[in-house]
Amino acid sequence: MLIDSHCHLDPTVFGGDAGVDEAIARARAAGVDRMITIGSGYGFESAGRALAVARRHPDVLRATVGLHPHDAKLATDDTLAELYAMADAPEVVALGEMGLDFHYDSSPRDEQRRVFRAQLAAARERQLPVIIHDRDSAGETLAVLDDEGAWEGGVLYHCYTGDVAAMEAIVSRGGYISIPGIVTFKNGDVMREVAARVPADRLLLETDSPFLTPIPFRGRRNEPAYVAYVAQKVAEVRGADVAELSEQAAANTRRFFRWE
Ligand SMILES: [Zn+2]
Ligand SMILES: [Zn+2]
Repeated sequence: MLIDSHCHLDPTVFGGDAGVDEAIARARAAGVDRMITIGSGYGFESAGRALAVARRHPDVLRATVGLHPHDAKLATDDTLAELYAMADAPEVVALGEMGLDFHYDSSPRDEQRRVFRAQLAAARERQLPVIIHDRDSAGETLAVLDDEGAWEGGVLYHCYTGDVAAMEAIVSRGGYISIPGIVTFKNGDVMREVAARVPADRLLLETDSPFLTPIPFRGRRNEPAYVAYVAQKVAEVRGADVAELSEQAAANTRRFFRWE
């Protein structure tokens, strides 16, 4: 079994509903059995769109809803309440992606902090796991997760770009690590080292499509079918069999999202 644990199958990026359905068909043909589409990152409305796509493909898709740190400035009491109402839908398996992005600073940092903590509280209330986006927060994301007591509910660092020491800090707290196509890039040495050393029971695989297209498809739009290339490279750096590695990562994904 092969799972793309993090893709943005947003109709606004994939050429409408028909484009999304075609990408899902190509993924299934490539041996990708399940996908988690992330309802966060393309404005507040991406949550509702992800939920709709998951409802159209209940056999292979689940959704998350959340407010990306880039979009923290869009948060109002009303948008957050609407988001949390969607989180109660049976197709929604996690809240996120959420977190802190001090690289792009697309929203003021104080807004990012406030909206991150609000979503962690909402996840705790609903006993939903969370997907974390952390870019250049210099350890602050981890400190917030500690402070909010978030680890027990399930924490997944997606598109993990930190080093081995930071990975170990996450894993020692019970967190999970998801490796994207950067692991295939020429300049992906740090990520390959991390991918080689994540404990086998904490490792997930993702495309983060439509971005971060793995080699050999650089320059094209990324899509869930290409998670096979991520699996191949991660297996290679771990000296593992690709089928076994895919199966292990899929088992971790099902456990984390409680999607058996
Ligand atoms: Zn992200
Ligand atoms: Zn993402």
